[in-house]
Amino acid sequence: MALVGAEEFNENLRRIRETVGESLARAGRGPDDVRIMAVTKGFPREAAETAAAAGLDLLGENRVQEAEAKFGTVPPPAELHLIGHLQTNKARKAAALVACVQSIDKYETAAALDRHAAALGKRMPVLLELNTSGEESKSGYGEPAALLADLDRIRALPSLAVAGLMTVGPLAGGERAARAAFVRLKTVFEEIRSRSGLPDFRELSMGMSQDYAMAVEEGATLVRIGTALFGERSYSR
Ligand SMILES: *Cc1c(COP(=O)(O)O)cnc(C)c1O
Repeated sequence: MALVGAEEFNENLRRIRETVGESLARAGRGPDDVRIMAVTKGFPREAAETAAAAGLDLLGENRVQEAEAKFGTVPPPAELHLIGHLQTNKARKAAALVACVQSIDKYETAAALDRHAAALGKRMPVLLELNTSGEESKSGYGEPAALLADLDRIRALPSLAVAGLMTVGPLAGGERAARAAFVRLKTVFEEIRSRSGLPDFRELSMGMSQDYAMAVEEGATLVRIGTALFGERSYSR
């Protein structure tokens, strides 16, 4: 594990902000139209402290167990989102630990999360995850039609608010494949938005260390960055 020091982190962040700014300008978007999430999975709690001290207000973890170990006793120094697959039997812990689950890909999981959020007196924003790459290792809804069908049920859950969509770009296929995946997610996003009736639906979470510049060009409102901020993890997912 190669967690960088604060100075190197700040330099990494400066470069990422610059790149995001250039992508926003190329796309004719406003300079503040993207939020940068620091993905702390695989790194100690210290990474989250460094990110928060640098002004990042969004943290991402992909496993409930790891998030609990890191933030279960002392709350995270910034808003924490779950960005990895959520098993239904972990919904209770997730509802208590994180402010938002970005990786909903099954109605049953959403329903369990809704029940536990209600018990805590919370209304939780969630994003629905679409598998835009067709890669089998990825979670998320396999098809837009399946996502849209569940959306109609999930939006009726009283303690959840469907706030947008999320995807993980393809590992293989280079720039072309990544851009195509982001365009695919944006298309579904716009289709849902045009139907209206979802006041909180505004987040398009796509782009990671390798492909965030492209994701911003294609409309991302939130990019999830781990290695480009903190260095290499000892595992990849
Ligand atoms: C690990 C992970 C990221 C960050 O990946 P990097 O390549 O380290 O930037 C973003 N999103 C999800 C869902 C992840 O699991």
